[in-house]
Amino acid sequence: MLSCEYVKCSDLGQAFQLLETREDAYLLAGGTDLMVGIRGGKFAAKLLIDIKELEELKILKEDEQGITIGAAVTLNEIATFGPILKNVPILAEGAHSVGSYSIRNRATLAGNICNASPAADTAAPLYCLGAIVNIIGSGGKRSLPVEEFFTGPGRTALEKGELIQSVLIPKPYPAGVGTYQKASRTGSVDLATVGVAVQNWGDQVRVAVGAVAPTPIRAVAVEKAVNEKDIKDWAKAAALVYDEISPITDLRGSRDYRFHLAEVLIRRGLERTMGV
Ligand SMILES: Cc1cc2nc3c(=O)[nH]c(=O)nc-3n(C[C@H](O)[C@H](O)[C@H](O)COP(=O)(O)OP(=O)(O)OC[C@H]3O[C@@H](n4cnc5c(N)ncnc54)[C@H](O)[C@@H]3O)c2cc1C
Repeated sequence: MLSCEYVKCSDLGQAFQLLETREDAYLLAGGTDLMVGIRGGKFAAKLLIDIKELEELKILKEDEQGITIGAAVTLNEIATFGPILKNVPILAEGAHSVGSYSIRNRATLAGNICNASPAADTAAPLYCLGAIVNIIGSGGKRSLPVEEFFTGPGRTALEKGELIQSVLIPKPYPAGVGTYQKASRTGSVDLATVGVAVQNWGDQVRVAVGAVAPTPIRAVAVEKAVNEKDIKDWAKAAALVYDEISPITDLRGSRDYRFHLAEVLIRRGLERTMGV
């Protein structure tokens, strides 16, 4: 039977203090990764630090900086937030593609990226949007581009005692069109075999791919071909992803299948956002 101490935090200071002093302490946001991980033996948690009721982590707002998404905001709140749907709908698409409605009612964006799965569905949209991760600890605050936050499978740039306070989608977000496509074994409630985000900002195209490398990646060669060489043959541009990825074979798909999926989804993403 699962047996853990549980503390519902009354403020962030309490969370830092517990994280710093207890090796066996884990933050609990939605718990949708954490509880599965504890049961499966992935996390040796003896203390759960519940942060989901902290008001300062529930902030979801748009201001002159951009859109701020607090660490306790759920994926369903993100997928239905007006300024996200209006300005950066690709993030709503990524959030909406996670699990089921009930999972998304608990799961958070912060938990999705802290779990650091290369297949995390919100990651590729965040890479395309140049998201900034706001980190806080007893030593103060710091901010990192999301691409520096992922450091390997299950690993992040968080240091001991730190947590994500919020994620910022920075302005400007000029009028653009984006698409997030996810190939998975089942229609829903499964991680991506490959996930591809393509965002066309008008003057610049960004392409990010999940589940094809130890972390989500930007497909830089594809972006360069489209942005700098002005290649309009989308199949030719998409094929350049082959040199940028190192997929593995696992229960969700073989290495070769992932190569193929990445190319096909990027080509479709370019067709949808750039015109065929
Ligand atoms: C049935 C099922 C289906 C799923 N389907 C998908 C899917 O399709 N796509 C997908 O990407 N994921 C999927 N997941 C995984 C999971 O739902 C997501 O990764 C979710 O976003 C995790 O958020 P959470 O708030 O539940 O995180 P939690 O489980 O609470 O936490 C995850 C990890 O992050 C840490 N953490 C949480 N918040 C913070 C913070 N603010 N700062 C620092 N560390 C923190 C926790 O300590 C833990 O290590 C699925 C899970 C289940 C159970």
